[in-house]
Amino acid sequence: MAKDNLTAVLHGINDLRLEQRPIPEITDEEVLVAMDSVGICGSDVHYLTKGRIGHFVVTKPMVIGHESAGVVAKVGSKVKNLVVGDRVAIEPGVPCYKCDHCKQGSYNLCPDMAFCATPPYDGNLTRYYKHAADFCFKLPDHVTMEEAAGSPPLSVGVHACRRAGVGLGSKVLILGAGPIGLVHLLVAQSLGATEILITDLVQQRLDVAKELGATHTLLLNRDDTGEEVANRVHQIMSAEPDKAIDCCGAESSTRLAIFATRSGGVVVIVGMGPPEMKLPLFNALAREVDIRGVFRYCNDYSAALALVASGRVNVKRLVTHHFDITETAKAFETARDGLDGAIKVMIHVQPRNTNN
Ligand code: NAD
Ligand code: ZN
Repeated sequence: MAKDNLTAVLHGINDLRLEQRPIPEITDEEVLVAMDSVGICGSDVHYLTKGRIGHFVVTKPMVIGHESAGVVAKVGSKVKNLVVGDRVAIEPGVPCYKCDHCKQGSYNLCPDMAFCATPPYDGNLTRYYKHAADFCFKLPDHVTMEEAAGSPPLSVGVHACRRAGVGLGSKVLILGAGPIGLVHLLVAQSLGATEILITDLVQQRLDVAKELGATHTLLLNRDDTGEEVANRVHQIMSAEPDKAIDCCGAESSTRLAIFATRSGGVVVIVGMGPPEMKLPLFNALAREVDIRGVFRYCNDYSAALALVASGRVNVKRLVTHHFDITETAKAFETARDGLDGAIKVMIHVQPRNTNN
């Protein structure tokens, strides 16, 4: 095995360095993965530029990256689900398996979750990375490494659409057409939603949403918030949406999500906005609009990968830029500034398509 383990390490705000790290030793239940593709997530950019997300603070050097896929290079003695050479998508969070949440199946709520590239845990923008074998998913031959690296955002989409109860004939309002809003659009379509209106502040993002099959788009101003905008949503959709999915987390968008949702409908909050905001709660309670949180994913990976493998969802259009790991700084700059219409920026640890 090559000794080279080039790794992208975040040392502090705007201080991302490429350096050599030792190749990790695996335990009996882990696999060593030769990384192939790692997508840049908004949270990676946030840690780079702010050094923290909420109470997760980067206090010591942390390997960045968690939207990833690679090839199994070594397996622990007790691993039964994988062999060397398997191409895998990596579910980035490994829970404790012991707490009530884990036992009840809601492992995304585990207080002891070890989640890649969330302090204090290292991520996997590196050549060799070790992970719990049961959180690695073997890929069918025709699913590419880049598609597999897109599994985390797609799994958020699956989780949120399940939380919202999106199904046949649903009328869905999606707020925000970034990578997260767009995967929700794709998942909602695949679940049978027939009307999907997506909003954003940037026309270019709405154009992509339209290309991906949104039935309606609505360009908003930052402070479009109130009931008049909700009325515009109803007019455009010729109906009141029964589900709203907030994928930006701005106060104005969460307010609009509540005002626009039909009585008895569901609002799910995916976007991570300020810790506190002013919301029309009386309006929600008096119309029995349920407001539900969404945190990552839980038992959603298999469904997300099946959507891709079956061709029901095509995530290829979302990947707009490609960089080699040696160009990590430029890749982050492109993602941070949304340069050149960037949606999803992919970093290649191996030359592109080596493992497809
Ligand atoms: P992004 O910043 O690329 O996209 C957000 C989009 O929302 C942008 O296109 C922006 O123009 C648009 N926007 C901003 N304010 C708006 C408003 N008032 N109305 C309509 N659109 C508006 O981010 P992303 O990567 O797509 O992620 C979206 C959000 O989802 C982030 O807050 C991220 O932290 C969150 N997220 C949450 C989870 C979770 O588990 N809950 C997981 C992943 C991402
Ligand atoms: Zn647990």
